[in-house]
Amino acid sequence: MNRSKVEHCPFCGEESCSHQIKLITLRYKSIPITVKQPGYWCDKCGEGVIGGEDRKATQKKLQSQRLQIDGLLTYSNFYLDK
Ligand SMILES: [Zn+2]
Repeated sequence: MNRSKVEHCPFCGEESCSHQIKLITLRYKSIPITVKQPGYWCDKCGEGVIGGEDRKATQKKLQSQRLQIDGLLTYSNFYLDK
Protein backbone atom coordinates (compact mmCIF):
# COMPACT_ATOMS: atom_id res chain seq x y z
CA MET A 1 0.00 0.00 0.00
CA ASN A 2 1.55 3.24 -1.02
CA ARG A 3 -1.57 5.33 -1.08
CA SER A 4 -1.02 8.33 1.14
CA LYS A 5 -3.84 9.05 3.51
CA VAL A 6 -6.45 11.54 2.54
CA GLU A 7 -7.26 14.38 4.89
CA HIS A 8 -9.76 17.17 5.09
CA CYS A 9 -8.70 20.21 3.14
CA PRO A 10 -8.36 23.27 5.39
CA PHE A 11 -9.45 25.50 2.50
CA CYS A 12 -12.57 23.89 1.07
CA GLY A 13 -13.33 21.25 3.70
CA GLU A 14 -13.48 18.37 1.22
CA GLU A 15 -11.80 15.10 2.11
CA SER A 16 -9.41 15.30 -0.81
CA CYS A 17 -6.17 16.57 0.64
CA SER A 18 -3.22 14.20 0.47
CA HIS A 19 0.55 14.37 0.52
CA GLN A 20 1.77 14.44 -3.04
CA ILE A 21 4.25 16.12 -5.29
CA LYS A 22 2.90 18.76 -7.58
CA LEU A 23 4.59 20.79 -10.27
CA ILE A 24 4.13 24.41 -9.37
CA THR A 25 5.31 27.56 -11.03
CA LEU A 26 6.60 30.41 -8.92
CA ARG A 27 7.76 33.74 -10.15
CA TYR A 28 11.02 35.42 -9.32
CA LYS A 29 11.56 38.87 -10.80
CA SER A 30 8.72 38.02 -13.21
CA ILE A 31 10.58 34.95 -14.48
CA PRO A 32 8.72 31.68 -13.90
CA ILE A 33 10.46 28.89 -11.99
CA THR A 34 8.88 25.44 -12.03
CA VAL A 35 9.59 23.15 -9.09
CA LYS A 36 8.32 19.80 -7.90
CA GLN A 37 6.79 20.87 -4.62
CA PRO A 38 5.80 18.21 -2.11
CA GLY A 39 2.97 19.14 0.19
CA TYR A 40 -0.60 18.40 1.19
CA TRP A 41 -2.40 19.23 -1.99
CA CYS A 42 -6.16 19.27 -2.38
CA ASP A 43 -7.56 17.62 -5.49
CA LYS A 44 -10.78 19.62 -5.25
CA CYS A 45 -9.66 23.22 -4.93
CA GLY A 46 -5.99 22.93 -5.80
CA GLU A 47 -4.82 24.63 -2.62
CA GLY A 48 -1.90 23.17 -0.78
CA VAL A 49 -0.34 23.15 2.66
CA ILE A 50 3.43 23.13 2.49
CA GLY A 51 5.21 22.16 5.67
CA GLY A 52 8.76 22.90 6.77
CA GLU A 53 10.17 19.64 5.44
CA ASP A 54 8.34 20.07 2.15
CA ARG A 55 9.73 23.56 1.80
CA LYS A 56 13.25 22.31 2.45
CA ALA A 57 12.90 19.87 -0.44
CA THR A 58 12.67 22.71 -2.94
CA GLN A 59 14.77 25.34 -1.19
CA LYS A 60 18.07 24.37 -2.79
CA LYS A 61 16.58 24.15 -6.25
CA LEU A 62 14.85 27.50 -5.86
CA GLN A 63 18.00 29.12 -4.56
CA SER A 64 20.09 27.96 -7.51
CA GLN A 65 17.35 29.01 -9.94
CA ARG A 66 17.25 32.47 -8.37
CA LEU A 67 21.00 32.80 -8.63
CA GLN A 68 20.81 31.77 -12.25
CA ILE A 69 18.12 34.35 -12.93
CA ASP A 70 20.12 37.04 -11.14
CA GLY A 71 23.08 36.11 -13.31
CA LEU A 72 21.01 36.30 -16.48
CA LEU A 73 19.51 39.64 -15.53
CA THR A 74 22.89 41.10 -14.66
CA TYR A 75 24.22 39.88 -17.95
CA SER A 76 21.33 41.22 -20.02
CA ASN A 77 21.44 44.61 -18.28
CA PHE A 78 25.12 44.83 -18.98
CA TYR A 79 24.46 43.86 -22.54
CA LEU A 80 21.64 46.37 -23.01
CA ASP A 81 23.66 49.24 -21.55
CA LYS A 82 26.17 48.99 -24.32
ZN1 LIG B 1 -9.61 21.94 -1.00
